[in-house]
Amino acid sequence: MFPESLAEADELLQRDVRNTAVLGGCCWLKLGRRRISRAIDLTRLGLNQIEVKDGWLELGACVTLRQLETDPAVTSRFDNLLGQAVSHIVGVQFRNCATLGGSVFSRFGFSDLTCALLALETTVVLYRGGEVPLEEFMASPIAFDDILVKVRVKDDGRRAAYESVRRSSTDFPTLAAAVSCLEGKWKVSVGARPARAMLSAQAAACLDQGQGPEAAGEAAAHELTYGSDLRAGADYRRKLAAVLVRRAAQTCMEGNR
Ligand SMILES: Cc1cc2nc3c(=O)[nH]c(=O)nc-3n(C[C@H](O)[C@H](O)[C@H](O)COP(=O)(O)OP(=O)(O)OC[C@H]3O[C@@H](n4cnc5c(N)ncnc54)[C@H](O)[C@@H]3O)c2cc1C
Repeated sequence: MFPESLAEADELLQRDVRNTAVLGGCCWLKLGRRRISRAIDLTRLGLNQIEVKDGWLELGACVTLRQLETDPAVTSRFDNLLGQAVSHIVGVQFRNCATLGGSVFSRFGFSDLTCALLALETTVVLYRGGEVPLEEFMASPIAFDDILVKVRVKDDGRRAAYESVRRSSTDFPTLAAAVSCLEGKWKVSVGARPARAMLSAQAAACLDQGQGPEAAGEAAAHELTYGSDLRAGADYRRKLAAVLVRRAAQTCMEGNR
């Protein structure tokens, strides 16, 4: 179904939340087993826009990963953190389909994008739930009764850097880290632990206090939890976290992009 407004899309969704799916690029949805009797296509709602408004970078839910990689409004900000984070995801054709909305709403543990967004001042705008900080959204369970309308990132000029390790170039990340800095205040995010990306307050505190990238890496390795799956064991991930956070913090400090 092709609603002409968000209100209409919401009305269609609320009629039968259980059997209705809001569509992103369908790259993930089509691989799943969820039974869907009604699909809501958001493409007529103008949500594929990237705007800089009132000090915020606003990314509509239907913005594709490829737009994040190529749009100058995104690539010229935060040292191209977002463009770099998505550039390893599968391939260009795939990134032309997969959307920001589908990626953020799904809160995948392996998500490069949410790991990067978490290191910025990011909020998620939901049709029913209103505007919530990404950190809060990431900690909440997935319910299919709302529509992600856009993601807002404070256009505060922070420096940032992204690091990930993959077993092969287009695989899911084995571990990912994003670091940003504004006026001496740092944010450190670690993703693909393999659980959802989380901020490491202790790693950020190390950097705030001038203890350096190595101390920050060790702090992120010890503060956060790491798990095992077919890509890596928990111990290896913990070691990777120390290395990737250190490297990202060094890049941020040196301005070496
Ligand atoms: C083979 C493969 C490899 C991948 N590798 C990586 C990787 O290495 N790194 C990485 O970060 N990601 C990876 N991804 C995930 C990918 O980047 C996207 O996040 C994923 O495809 C979801 O985006 P989509 O637009 O396809 O959403 P869809 O598949 O259309 O939807 C996914 C879910 O989100 C819901 N949804 C979509 N849009 C909205 C909205 N606006 N409001 C509410 N709900 C919504 C849908 O109902 C559905 O439940 C991979 C995916 C696949 C299939």
